[in-house]
Amino acid sequence: MKLIYTPSGAAGEYANKGYAANLFNGCLHGCSYCYVPRIKRMKPEAFAARMTPQTDVLHRLKMDLRGRKLEEPLFLCFSCDPYPPDDKLCAITRKAIEIVMESGNAVNILTKGGMRAARDFHLLEQDKRNQIGATLTFMDLRTSQKWEPGAANPRNRIKMLNTAKDFGISTWVSMEPVIKPKQTLSLIIESAPYVDLFKIGKWNHAAEAREIDWKAFYHEATGLLDELGCGYMIKRDLAIAAGVSSAECGVRSAELGSKAMRKSVGHISHKG
Ligand code: SF4
Repeated sequence: MKLIYTPSGAAGEYANKGYAANLFNGCLHGCSYCYVPRIKRMKPEAFAARMTPQTDVLHRLKMDLRGRKLEEPLFLCFSCDPYPPDDKLCAITRKAIEIVMESGNAVNILTKGGMRAARDFHLLEQDKRNQIGATLTFMDLRTSQKWEPGAANPRNRIKMLNTAKDFGISTWVSMEPVIKPKQTLSLIIESAPYVDLFKIGKWNHAAEAREIDWKAFYHEATGLLDELGCGYMIKRDLAIAAGVSSAECGVRSAELGSKAMRKSVGHISHKG
């Protein structure tokens, strides 16, 4: 069975209409908002309790990449985190990166593992196409620990972005779910110096999300990002909730790797 797949629908937009691979089953981060247990029809506790490599994961990755040049960096991962609090699993992620790079391809990593990812920056810095992203959700440590008990703390995730920039690696941030909009705005301010591109969404699949004024959040977030000169993309569901049509919505996107801004039209979608 193939490991690399082309994500469809919202996930497809999120991976830049490219390719993705999920290296593991389960996820030790145990985020209480995670959509994956629902898709896999698992109890969230069972999904968070055990994380194992996919069957023959590295061999399948190698086979899938044989003689293949992907148009976009390979997205790691949608249904797990590539940098869990387990060194043996992180070692598999490193091997996966090596396999991808040896095949002449690049990776686009999204993690809540913070500085756990820095162990592989010596690899990522070797190819400018490689990208590393952090999901930033909460500024407050206790709130983060409540919602994402196994993930790295917020400051550690921002430190990871700072360190990646020092290595010259392209960085991006996924801001979704937005459960505490004020904290999201603080995270933008704190991380802006180290981020090439922000991808901003909202909070879905929760009754409490309806109580949030998405229009106000949209304007505050985009105003702040404009003020800070940051590149950003707004997810379609946030634009819709804010009452901004995709035709009218000026989505600003920075070229990854630089702060040079260009106007673009389009939205991204996202896991979480
Ligand atoms: S949201 Fe991501 S990091 Fe959190 S448990 Fe799900 S897959 Fe893991």
